[in-house]
Amino acid sequence: MSTHQVFSNADACIINIGYTGEISVCGIIGYTGSMQVPSILTDGLTNLEYRGYDSSGVAIIDTSGDIVVRKSTGKLVELILSLQSDPIQGTTGIGHTRWATHGEPNHTNAHPHVDCSSSLTVVHNGIVENYRQIKDELLSQGHIFKSDTDSEVIPHLIETGLSDGLTLDKSIKNAAMKLRGAHAVVIMSKDNPNHIFAFKLGNAGGIVIGKTSDGMILASDLPAVMPYTHQVSYLEPGEL
Ligand code: GLU
Repeated sequence: MSTHQVFSNADACIINIGYTGEISVCGIIGYTGSMQVPSILTDGLTNLEYRGYDSSGVAIIDTSGDIVVRKSTGKLVELILSLQSDPIQGTTGIGHTRWATHGEPNHTNAHPHVDCSSSLTVVHNGIVENYRQIKDELLSQGHIFKSDTDSEVIPHLIETGLSDGLTLDKSIKNAAMKLRGAHAVVIMSKDNPNHIFAFKLGNAGGIVIGKTSDGMILASDLPAVMPYTHQVSYLEPGEL
């Protein structure tokens, strides 16, 4: 018997980017709704622990509308304890367990990563094969990078689209078009609260989107969304 139902892609606003890109694992989770998000993120990441990781992190839009990032190296329990001892209140957030490919597995390189003004934040599975070239271009435009990761080019690329006057979804699409390799990317912006954006290029882990009674949840794999819904849809390569 099937354990889940597939709902219409229209419910999740899935559109085709027009580029499918070109494998990689680790864990992604995102939720927006009416429930407090921190434990949804950490429970989801715990259910994805089987995939392996070296560090973890979450970004949450807090009650004043700011993006607050919390990271830890090592076991997820460190992140959970940090969120218990210094809680963040919010109902929209994203989380990640990282398997480092570019940059040491340390606090700075753990995801999520932010743009220059911490207005938007990104978690990423995969390898940006052309990150060096993109990073050099962004550095020459004055972008400030904090990490040694390939992933950090993504929030900065999206930021350039926004500063050129593009909408967030168009800026994300433009950024996606510039990335070589296989990717699963999830984006959250303080200027678009109550929304989570995700795109998939090639096969860098799945993105399953679930419709809950009060909002939406997405993750790399079913175990993270099953406690909240059995109504799911999967992103295909090339979809945002
Ligand atoms: N390449 C990225 C990094 O090194 C993402 C790794 C992953 O898929 O966890 O941060």
